[in-house]
Amino acid sequence: MKLGTIMTMLGMGAVLAACDCCPQGEVKALSQDKELRAVMDNFTQNEVPAATPLVEKREVELIRLVSLVTQQSGALLQEEVGTALAQGLAPEEILEAIYQCAPYTGFPRTVDAVEIARSVFKAKNVKVDENRGTVTAQSRLEAGADAQGTLFGQTFRDMAKNGKSGMPTINYFLASNCFGDYYTRKGLDLNTRELLTMAILVNLGTEPQLKAHIGANLKIRTAEYVEQAIYNCLPYCGYPRTLNALRLLKEAVAEAASQQGPSASSGTLNAAGAVNVADAKTMPGKDWSVFPVGKPNDAYAKYFVGKSYLDMISKEQVGVGNVTFEPACRNNWHIHHAKKGGGQILIATAGRGYYQEWGKPAVELKPGDVVNIPAGVKHWHGAAPDSWFQHLAIEVPSEGGSNEWLEPVSDEDYGKLK
Ligand code: MN
Repeated sequence: MKLGTIMTMLGMGAVLAACDCCPQGEVKALSQDKELRAVMDNFTQNEVPAATPLVEKREVELIRLVSLVTQQSGALLQEEVGTALAQGLAPEEILEAIYQCAPYTGFPRTVDAVEIARSVFKAKNVKVDENRGTVTAQSRLEAGADAQGTLFGQTFRDMAKNGKSGMPTINYFLASNCFGDYYTRKGLDLNTRELLTMAILVNLGTEPQLKAHIGANLKIRTAEYVEQAIYNCLPYCGYPRTLNALRLLKEAVAEAASQQGPSASSGTLNAAGAVNVADAKTMPGKDWSVFPVGKPNDAYAKYFVGKSYLDMISKEQVGVGNVTFEPACRNNWHIHHAKKGGGQILIATAGRGYYQEWGKPAVELKPGDVVNIPAGVKHWHGAAPDSWFQHLAIEVPSEGGSNEWLEPVSDEDYGKLK
């Protein structure tokens, strides 16, 4: 089926017009409304990205995609699918971002969007790996409850233990369908899906659910990052819903801070009502370590629970980073992969923390302790629940080295540590 045919079927023939500026076979919206196009392009392509440097380009594209699906866009979604492909996103990522909308918007918007994406893939001769599901009729409930448990707490796993007959219908649907059928699919990891769910709900403006998913994102990302992700929805959902989302973020940050105990302040707000939680936990004093604390580790924040700081001590010969973790902050389970050599050495320099390998007990770390982490070993490192922690992280030279980031350390496992 031709792209134009699908557009006509979807009732968007009138929106789109062929133009001279695009490659053959492509159409661009607003070909006659150049002033509105310029205003839109300036806001979406220049101003919003400049104000949101923490959000990676790939995540920006995914947030735009789900925003356009949720807003039932035809013309802009078609353009955005082409842009996302040009930015190097895999067609499977694009489709999975669209699939992720189904449990929140319902099927109609999702199905129309899938048809649009497929038409662009066809026009560009893009091939798709069609086998991305990981659950069966038997495993979807447990797998879904496990995803819920990782994002929202152990209660959700416990709720599903007695199976379908032991659960209220809505809880069964949420675990088996909303989480089991979608969050478990290949193509997008759990943390990215949770970011996109928040973006979908910002666009929908359904407040209680949005606040819960902002809370889930605050376990994965910093408040600054979440705020910037919300700004990436603004061109698609408008100011009223953006303002509502920022208010809910403010509330969620204050509630999270009040649960962190007496050492935490309630976070602060700048003049624009934006959130600043950099001072949510009292920073260690100057004499705490011979190494500086460095800057907020925003580039890796999505792989950490809690706030961490990074100071690159060496960028030459061998990379050495100085990582500082606030109390209870830890990185997700991860693996340093390498074809030859590789792995990581940790040298504890201040405070008290932990290192744990998958399947083994956690090891307490104090200043001077050294950990040799071989390539290929699944592990995490971070602070003790009541103490700041700092370690040097040394990259062991390797051939074909890469890092694989996995699920967060569960509250259940971390909660056992003193
Ligand atoms: Mn590591």
